[in-house]
Amino acid sequence: MQKTIERIAGDSEGVVYEFPVLRFEGKDKAAPSAYLQAALHAGELPGVVAIDALMPMLTKAEAEGRIKGSITIVPWANPIGRAQYHFGEHQGRFNLGTRTNFNRSFPLLAAPDARLLPDVSLGGADRRLKNRLVQLSLGNDIVLDLHCDDEGLAYLYIHTSLWPHMADCAAAMGAEAVLLWSEDNTGTFEGASIMPYQNVPASVARFDRRAVTTVEYRGMLDVDAALAAADAAGLYRLLAARGVVQDSSVPKFEKFSGPVVPLENIDMMPSPRAGAILYDVKPGDRVQKGDRLATIVHAPGEAGGRTEVFAPQSGFILTRRARRIIRTGEDLLKLAGDSRSSDARSGTLED
Ligand SMILES: [Zn+2]
Repeated sequence: MQKTIERIAGDSEGVVYEFPVLRFEGKDKAAPSAYLQAALHAGELPGVVAIDALMPMLTKAEAEGRIKGSITIVPWANPIGRAQYHFGEHQGRFNLGTRTNFNRSFPLLAAPDARLLPDVSLGGADRRLKNRLVQLSLGNDIVLDLHCDDEGLAYLYIHTSLWPHMADCAAAMGAEAVLLWSEDNTGTFEGASIMPYQNVPASVARFDRRAVTTVEYRGMLDVDAALAAADAAGLYRLLAARGVVQDSSVPKFEKFSGPVVPLENIDMMPSPRAGAILYDVKPGDRVQKGDRLATIVHAPGEAGGRTEVFAPQSGFILTRRARRIIRTGEDLLKLAGDSRSSDARSGTLED
């Protein structure tokens, strides 16, 4: 394993950001290559500790000559967000200087060619970081971006062009659900990793061996040694199943049998009132149309001071908020519906 340090110039004199890149060289040029990054939203740490648990497995494979395809790992993908504390609270989702989400505004290239990247020498540190992450990841057959939700199941975002080819990945990783999407109008890292392949010859796109996904490893507080070990085992199974790592001792896994939900079926449930949330449901719960999902307490103790929110359709609860305070119009949860949501959103679900 080789470690290098990436440096991203800050926006003022004397400020430089750094992050490590860990690389395993592949022995077989024909084998698929893989790129893994975690904590692009800098406070989302289940993927960071999963990588920590994965590294000894890869180091052992390397010592035994079993690394076939090259592997590039960026355990802390966002040194700018990692350092952002605002009145004592960590803020790793948005750049405090611009309010830009760290997982938006990635360049969506017309082809997988890093020479098409925009000139960001004057573009701001976060844009320089985004360019660099695209340069590091582009061209890899497997690109995994490890995130987490507020509170949620372990689920994957996957572009429709890669489904069902990636069902083996979902099974290997132990995903509990898959969300299929087809358009990216905001420039997510996942979009930057798959959209360049949409209009190139099939011999370049190679969707049968390509794997690109945003991995949502449950919730913000699910940073736990046992979960990290299980997630690392899942990542390793994926790398073995796709031939990046050779390991005949990896047991065969079941076919993916979890729910596969188009993005337009998600009901985000904007809150009708501001207040304190009393949830009736938690991630994984099955609900029927009309079931109560939550009560918002907006005028405590007063007549009419509680507002109930009901399921607009049947489905299951994918995620809910970690905090119990909410403003009018903020989303209460993700209900993965059995059919199209009347609140279907174009592109990404959240800011
Ligand atoms: Zn995230």
